[in-house]
Amino acid sequence: MSSHGRNAPILNAANEKHGRERDAWAKKTTRIGMNMERRCRFCNAALEFSFVDLGSTPLANSFLTAAQLEQPEPSYPLHARVCHHCWLVQADAVVPAHEIFGEYAYFSSMSESWVEHARRYAATTCERFALNKHSQVVEVASNDGYLLKHYVAAGVPVLGVEPAENIAQVARSIGVPTEARFFGQDTANALVDRGLAADLVIGNNVLAHVPDINDFVGGLARIMKPDGVLSLEFPHLLRLIEGAQFDTIYHEHFYYLSLLAVETILAAHGLAVFDVEELPTHGGSLRVFARRAKGAHEEVTSGVKKVRCDEAAAGFDHIDAYTTFQNKVAPILEGLLAFLKQARADGKKVAGYGAAAKGNTLLNTCGIGDDLIDYVVDRSPAKQGRFMPGSKLPILEPDRIFETRPDYVLILPWNIQDEVISINRSVSEWGGRFVVAVPELRVLG
Ligand SMILES: [Zn+2]
Repeated sequence: MSSHGRNAPILNAANEKHGRERDAWAKKTTRIGMNMERRCRFCNAALEFSFVDLGSTPLANSFLTAAQLEQPEPSYPLHARVCHHCWLVQADAVVPAHEIFGEYAYFSSMSESWVEHARRYAATTCERFALNKHSQVVEVASNDGYLLKHYVAAGVPVLGVEPAENIAQVARSIGVPTEARFFGQDTANALVDRGLAADLVIGNNVLAHVPDINDFVGGLARIMKPDGVLSLEFPHLLRLIEGAQFDTIYHEHFYYLSLLAVETILAAHGLAVFDVEELPTHGGSLRVFARRAKGAHEEVTSGVKKVRCDEAAAGFDHIDAYTTFQNKVAPILEGLLAFLKQARADGKKVAGYGAAAKGNTLLNTCGIGDDLIDYVVDRSPAKQGRFMPGSKLPILEPDRIFETRPDYVLILPWNIQDEVISINRSVSEWGGRFVVAVPELRVLG
């Protein structure tokens, strides 16, 4: 037992409160033996409790070429655990970062709703923080410049930091200065040495993807002006649990974040959250604003108080809130498999829509292949002509749906289901219907 091993008192307290439920979980909760002890990526405590174990799957963003179809495909355990000291939910580190980021096919600008989200965010922050030609905005994981280009248009100096060189080049080509490198303390020090000091540091949908969260957050704090603001967006763990969004768990996604855990992590780097907004993106996200901590009694908005209350009501400071999640997954897998098998038995054709990472988690956790779904379509030319990892379903152009007229279109990225349905309304002309599998199987339209 490690010096951090305080699980016995916690389990006793849990027993008093939820006796029967916890007894059932004592059997299911994965205990890690001394010889394979894993430690929290933030606080280094031993990770003793399982959040969800999804078996072994290929990397969710490793789309295959035709030549790779014939080669053995590596797969890795997909298992998220929770730290019972800082409540950080985290996936096991099983894959080197360069394998994850080597050929990252995601371009932010491909989704229309995302482009509008970015435009509004830039306009709002420019006004709220009085950004002008004397200000400096830095975005980490700035992708193809989808967000910073709006600041450039408003005359606000920007710098993007983006690990993928091919994507950084796209950003530069549209006038967004971008450094192609991983962000952390080393990069932050190099930028500060060059005189960079940021009024606004943006990290949207990147915090969950960084291998070393202390190195990353420390770097963010380093490049902020004394009165600078840090803005982070990340999918909210509360929504993941409530919506049974287990398919948002994949190897490239190291953390599943609550405000509780993020406030603890930021505080360790001298930062305090002063505002939180709840967003509908990615199934329910938080936008957190932080600045340097001033003292014991930080002033916070009602938004911060509301999310703190919601998380407390969900029991986020208690292990049961996390260890009961695995129970929500099995009925979803069974529901989707039963539907697809029945559709096959009835001679129906099924296509998938959206070659998203979450679709790969869903298909591969279910063990679905081309025996149950014919193909997947995606709007991204970078994915068309490739194959889904694991399931090996071919990825085709969206027009293929109108040529083959499937009976069912399974929308894999359920978070954009309204957009997918609205741009593909004519599917109903031949009686086709849309299906989503999470949080439960639903046939729409
Ligand atoms: Zn921890």
